[in-house]
Parts: sequence; C-alpha cells; structure tokens
Amino acid sequence: MAILPILETPDPLLRRVSTPVETITPELQTLIDDMFETMYAAPGIGLAAIQVGVPKRILVIDLQEPEEEGGEPVRNPLVFINPEILAESDTLQTYNEGCLSVPELYAEVERPDHIRARWLNRDGKVHEEELDGLLGICLQHEMDHLEGVLFIDHLSRLKRDMILRKLAKARKERLAA
Ligand code: ZN
Repeated sequence: MAILPILETPDPLLRRVSTPVETITPELQTLIDDMFETMYAAPGIGLAAIQVGVPKRILVIDLQEPEEEGGEPVRNPLVFINPEILAESDTLQTYNEGCLSVPELYAEVERPDHIRARWLNRDGKVHEEELDGLLGICLQHEMDHLEGVLFIDHLSRLKRDMILRKLAKARKERLAA
C-alpha cells in the first residue's frame, strides 16, 4: 500500500467530472487500498479518487467513530463505487465541513438531512440504503467531488473568498518556511 499525494484547490483536476467504473479490476482494488491508507494518514473521514488525481467514481469513507465515550476509534471502512442519490429529504441539517483538498479550513454547509443512495461495494455488489447523520453528510460531500464540486462552492461568495484567501496565505507561509 502507498500514501498518495492529495490534490489541493485550486488544482484544476479537482474540477473535473469523474467517469463511472466499468469493471472492478485488481488495479482498482489497489487504488482503493491506497486511498484508505492516504485518508487514515491525512487524517480524514472521506476521500474521493479525484483527490488523488484519478477521475473515477470511487469514494472511501470511514467515520472512525469512538465506540463509546473515551474509547478508541473503531474502523469501519466503506467503499462507494458509482454512487447515486435516489431521494433526499426536504429537511436540511448543518454541519461544519472540512476537506483534505481545502486543508485546515472549515465552514458550515447545509445539506439534506437524510438521503437514499445506491452504490457498488468493493466487490461490485449493489447496495441501497437510507443514510443520515454524519455518514449521509459525508457521502454527499464526497459525491460532490465526483462532479468537480467542493464544499466551499456551497458558501456565499464572501465566505468562499475569505477561505480561499486564508488558503493562499497559508500556502505562501508554507513555501517561505
Ligand atoms: Zn472533500
């Protein structure tokens, strides 16, 4: 397994629309393993293939939620290939989102509070499920990446510009260091 470099905005690849997976090959399985390793190392709870420069409709998610308060995070790796949203609630929820491609900056985003989604797992088996809470939010955030959309696109222009300015400043400081 390998830790892959994560693309950061304004990398134009992040704006590309990803294409569906036709067949699940051993190469894809390796990519999925590398995506998990990259996400755990970052650390993050979700990663889309395009964030490591591969324009395919593949997402990995692991909320790594502690089983009980103060307990060790429990790993629950989930793979979503060619995910689709079949239905979404009218009720919205707000979550303070972040993104490995917009490092260390967070903002509140409103999204449907629950969704019905269909996807293939890493063995190519079809899953259809109602998702809510953080998993529902995370899947919607990651699915945006497949369309070339970032969470900052959901913000007002004023907020987005503020985040992009902070990001540019942080990058300049990193380069100067
Ligand atoms: Zn993201």
